[in-house]
Amino acid sequence: MMARTSPPAVLSAPSTTGLIDAHGRTIRYLRISVTDRCDLRCRYCMAEAMTFLPRSALASLEEIALIAERFIARGVTKIRLSGGEPLVRRDVGELVARLGGHVGAGLDELTMTTNGTRLRAHAPALAAAGIQRLNVSLDSLKPDRFRFITRHGDLLQVLDGIDAAREAGLGVKINAVALKGLNEDELGDMLAWCVDEGHDLSLIETMPLGAIDEDRVDRFLPLTGVFETLAARFPLVRDSHRTGGPARYWRVEGSTTRLGLISPLTANFCDGCNRVRLTTEGKLYMCLGHDDQVDLKGVLRDRGVTALDDAIDLAIAAKPAAHDFRIGIGEGPAVTRHMSVTGG
Ligand code: SAM
Ligand code: SF4
Repeated sequence: MMARTSPPAVLSAPSTTGLIDAHGRTIRYLRISVTDRCDLRCRYCMAEAMTFLPRSALASLEEIALIAERFIARGVTKIRLSGGEPLVRRDVGELVARLGGHVGAGLDELTMTTNGTRLRAHAPALAAAGIQRLNVSLDSLKPDRFRFITRHGDLLQVLDGIDAAREAGLGVKINAVALKGLNEDELGDMLAWCVDEGHDLSLIETMPLGAIDEDRVDRFLPLTGVFETLAARFPLVRDSHRTGGPARYWRVEGSTTRLGLISPLTANFCDGCNRVRLTTEGKLYMCLGHDDQVDLKGVLRDRGVTALDDAIDLAIAAKPAAHDFRIGIGEGPAVTRHMSVTGG
């Protein structure tokens, strides 16, 4: 059982210097990919045959926690654990419990993005550790289609995982990648299901990250058109909620459901970006769409925890102004890293 643990005082002591990049953006959000491995193979995310990192390349959970705690001390108030599938990493519960100890004491929110396959086993412990909300990725409510998109996923297992999360008191937001010819005819029904179940829904444009077995341009569905279709069926009211990410929000009137549209290709919100990403190798990426990174695990191993602040400052100063995602015939991926490496 993952009970919350108290943070070591010296590592969570607040620092006076926050993290502000060269473009005046304050960094308050850290995403951590705790593993690049996954028990599914979603077609838009991964190739069927993937080469994963050798275990020797991974940062230990202790190293990830130490790095995350420096970010908390420097003003990061939100951490999202992602992957790959975060719940396939053995002992991930220890990291959740350790970071959960900072919720209310530096962190406003600790959260996770998961494919839901293992939630039945993990949800109670995640809630006990201080997580209040999860993002669960679900691209179809039709079992055969779900299996096709994920290459072998079992829809009922994920729906049962979502039930387990709700039973544990966790809020659930559904993430669905909008895919031309795959789920575009179903997005309205998915929103109706979310309204019935009391979930929020975020729709995501497929991003050109890492090689997959098909050309993403064939599946790219601009959310502008999707929104027009949804607005014809649902009473959508603009919502002012902002996360510093590329999402715009609407509320389905008469319900608790918020609809988010994450459109990094058709709408660029980089000027408000407040996030950086730590990979399972302990490398810090300042932008999902660029290759620049700083090896914080290397700094920690070679020079100790006290050297992390200088390395983090250098990294933040180098955060690019914007990504340059394009999707077109023959364009190929913008970066060779898959989303699973940097954490979606
Ligand atoms: N395995 C977990 C899951 O699927 O929720 C967490 C990691 S996954 C990389 C995080 C999110 O990224 C998921 O919602 C997934 O649909 C999304 N994603 C993966 N590859 C993507 C891509 N190329 N473009 C847009 N979204 C992507
Ligand atoms: Fe795995 Fe998530 Fe990528 Fe699907 S989207 S293959 S569940 S990491």
